[in-house]
Amino acid sequence: MKAIFDERQLKHNPERYFRRGAYIPHPEQPERAILIRDMLVKNGFAIDTPSDYGVEPIKAVHDPAYVDFWKDAHARWRAEAGDAEAIPTYHPGRRAGRPSSSIYGQLGWWATDTSVPLTENTYEAIYWSAQTAIEAANRVVGGERMVYGLCRPPGHHALSNGANGFCIFNNAAVAAQELRKSYGKVAVFDIDTHTGNGTMDIFYDRADVFVCSLHVDPDVYPTYYLGYADETGEGAGQGATLNLTLQPGDGVEAILTRFREGVKAIQNFGADALVISLGFDMAEDDPLSVVGMTGEGFATMAREIVAMDLPTALIQEGGYLGPSLQNNAEVFLTTCRDELLKTG
Ligand SMILES: [Zn+2]
Repeated sequence: MKAIFDERQLKHNPERYFRRGAYIPHPEQPERAILIRDMLVKNGFAIDTPSDYGVEPIKAVHDPAYVDFWKDAHARWRAEAGDAEAIPTYHPGRRAGRPSSSIYGQLGWWATDTSVPLTENTYEAIYWSAQTAIEAANRVVGGERMVYGLCRPPGHHALSNGANGFCIFNNAAVAAQELRKSYGKVAVFDIDTHTGNGTMDIFYDRADVFVCSLHVDPDVYPTYYLGYADETGEGAGQGATLNLTLQPGDGVEAILTRFREGVKAIQNFGADALVISLGFDMAEDDPLSVVGMTGEGFATMAREIVAMDLPTALIQEGGYLGPSLQNNAEVFLTTCRDELLKTG
């Protein structure tokens, strides 16, 4: 099993995250990807860099104006505000109105919260994170059974036209859309501890991409607002969204029981190819976690994902700087590799 990674993804370097009334060090650090990259090297994974596929595959799932905005947003911010991290603080209300010509107004227009500080090299990092996902999908289309895209920053909270939850470009959605060029029905299975609200938003009215998200109940845990069990898609996409919720304090057995409901639903959908939005932030010692996932639990998920026997792009999402991040990534990815070797 190959891995895809580009060092330019490390260039996004957010400092601060405004959480529960106070600034804390931003959890989405380059170090996350460095730990996983080093683990891949240690375990002998071949790591390839992505080709440059341009912005068109990104615009296939995002508002083109949204994609274009980010390219020079930081330069515009710096011209107005100096070197400070660009953190959006003005946001449209329920009646959205219309975009402003001001960089302050535009930043808030295209970002739904304050969690995505824009730094000098953010665009380069999100661009190559998306290219990493596209490369992983294209390798799968080319016949590789499973490919791991070490994408960072993550993507699954990014809406079609709004940055959210540390995410700007939705890497998993981009990968799913790429897979659709060759496969009739694609499923996205999101096992990050937070709702895949962006992926859901992008595919909510489509019947060709099934989105299943396993996450902690949005009534009591971020992302809030989206990801309730009764959200099942709309229009042609009615029935092609499945939200499987966990409760704070749930342990491995409860998590795996709900996970298996997702496996079954994806099989019933008849998916021809699969994207895993792979978060490790369900881990019991992850700084953002409220559930009790273990390394052994991640190994079980890995085995059961391989057993689904589908062409699969693994796209990295969350998982923060807790003691077990590197170990959980190692257990999950080496289990996938070893199971694939066993099944030939
Ligand atoms: Zn997460």
